[in-house]
Amino acid sequence: MSSPKHDLFIAGQWVSGASYQPNVNPSNHEDVLGYYAQADLPLVETAVAAAHQVFESWSVSGIQQRSDALAFIGAELIARQFELGTLLAREEGKTRKEAIAEVVRAGQIFQFFAGECLRMTGDILPSVRPGVSVEISREAVGVVGVITPWNFPIAIPAWKIAPALAYGNCVVFKPADVAPGSAWALAEIISRSGIPAGVFNLVMGSGRVVGECMVNHPHISAMTFTGSTGTGMQIAQKSAAQLKKVQLEMGGKNPQVVLDDADLQQAVELSVNSAFFSTGQRCTATSRFIVTEGIHDRYVAAMKERMAQLRVGDALADDTDIGPVASRSQLEQDLSYVQIGRDEGATLAIGGTLLERGAPGNYLAPALFTETHNQMRINREEIFGPVATVIRVKDYEEALAVANDTQFGLSAGIATTSLIYASHFKRHSQAGMVMVNVATAGVDYHVPFGGRKASSYGPREQGSYAKEFYTVVKTSYTYA
Ligand code: NAD
Repeated sequence: MSSPKHDLFIAGQWVSGASYQPNVNPSNHEDVLGYYAQADLPLVETAVAAAHQVFESWSVSGIQQRSDALAFIGAELIARQFELGTLLAREEGKTRKEAIAEVVRAGQIFQFFAGECLRMTGDILPSVRPGVSVEISREAVGVVGVITPWNFPIAIPAWKIAPALAYGNCVVFKPADVAPGSAWALAEIISRSGIPAGVFNLVMGSGRVVGECMVNHPHISAMTFTGSTGTGMQIAQKSAAQLKKVQLEMGGKNPQVVLDDADLQQAVELSVNSAFFSTGQRCTATSRFIVTEGIHDRYVAAMKERMAQLRVGDALADDTDIGPVASRSQLEQDLSYVQIGRDEGATLAIGGTLLERGAPGNYLAPALFTETHNQMRINREEIFGPVATVIRVKDYEEALAVANDTQFGLSAGIATTSLIYASHFKRHSQAGMVMVNVATAGVDYHVPFGGRKASSYGPREQGSYAKEFYTVVKTSYTYA
C-alpha cells in the first residue's frame, strides 16, 4: 500500500513540513497510512501571521459566504462517510461503524453551524438616559488556536473549527500527533470550501513545539483545547499570562451508579457501551461502576458473561466490537493500571490481558476489577482505556457520595427505575452531563457539551452555547 506524504496548509497553500512522521495503524503496525508533515516554529509563525492578517476582513465578511462554506464542508463529510470512517478506524482503532458515526457527527456539526451563523442575534435595551439606546452585539474574537486529542480525531476538531469560522474567527489548528489523518482529510475539505486564504491553517506537529508556540503567541486571542487535564492546566496558566480567552475540555473518571431497582439487562448493556466501546477511549467513558449491594453480585456475573462475548479485533473487520488501543504508549498506560489494580488488592474479574490477532496490533481484552474502593488509584486516576472497576455500596446515598468523590466532573450516569432517585441524581451529581438509563458516552451534537471541576474550564462547547467562547460582546450607546 502506498504511503503518501501529507503537507501542512498555511495561508491558502499546501506547504512542506520541517519533517514527516508515519501514521501507523494500531490494528496492524506494519500498515503505515502515510507520512504527515511536522511544523517547526517559523511555519507556525507564518500560519499565525496569515490568520492575523486576514482576520479583519473575514470577521466582517458576509454571513452567507460563511454559511455556504460550512454547509459545503458538512455535506462533503456526510457524503464521504464510508471512506473517511474507514480512514479514521484505520488510524485510531475504533470500529468502522463507530468511526462512520463520528464522521457523520462532524458533518452534522458543520451543518448546524451553517445555520447557526445566520441566527446570530443581539439585544436593544432602553438606556437610563432619555434619548439614548443601548445595542448589545457579538463580534468575532480574533485568531483562535485549536488543539485537539487523538480519540475523536474528526468530531472534536469539527466542534471547534465550525463555530470558530461561523462567528468570523480565523483558525490555526493543531491536531494530535497520534492519528493526524482524519484531521488532514478535514483540512483538505476546508481548503476547497471557498473561504479566503489564511482564514484556516493546519499546522501538524508536537505539543511541545507547535502547541506551546500557539499558546504563547500574542496574535492568538483565544485557545480552545481538548486533551488531558495536565496539559490543559499548563495551557490555562500560559494563556492567563496573556489574557487569552481559554476553553478546556479535559479528563474524566466518570461514574455509573447501578441501583437495586435497575433493569439488570439494560444496565449491563449501557455499562458495556459506556466503558468499553471505542476501546474505552472516550473522555465520557464510564470507568467506575458504583453498584448497590442488592444487585451487586448479579450485576458482576452478568457483566462478566456479556464482556466474555465482546469480540476484540481489527477495527475494519465487520464482526469486531472493540478495536485495538490507539497507540503503544496508551496500551502501556492501560497495562500499567491493570498491574496497579492488582497491586492495590482489587480482583481482576475478567480481561486485562494482551490478545494475539494475527497482525501485530494493540489488542487488549477489556478489563473489569471488582472488590475495589474509591480511594484506590484505579478509581482516582484517569486510565483512558478499556479498564473499569466495580465499587460496592450499601445504598443510593452512599452511591451518590462515591460518584461525586473525584477531582473530575465530566459525565455521570445512573441506572434505576425510580423517578425519585433519577431526579435526585440529576440535581446532585457534580458532573456537567448526567445520563439516566443512557450510556454515559452517548452525546448529541447540537446541545452543550462539557464538565465541571478538573474536567472542563471556560464556556461550553457545541450547540448555540458555543458562541459564548467564539464571540465577544460589544455594548454600543446611540443618542438620536
Ligand atoms: P494530551 O493532553 O496529551 O494532548 C492533547 C493535545 O495537546 C495534542 O494535540 C497534543 O499534541 C497537545 N499538547 C501536548 N502538550 C502540549 C503543550 N505543552 N502545549 C500545547 N499543546 C500540547 O491528550 P491526548 O492523550 O491526546 O488525549 C487524551 C486526553 O484527552 C484524555 O485525558 C481525555 O480524557 C481527554 N479528552 C477530553 C475530552 C473532553 O471533551 N473532555 C474529549 C476527548 C479527550
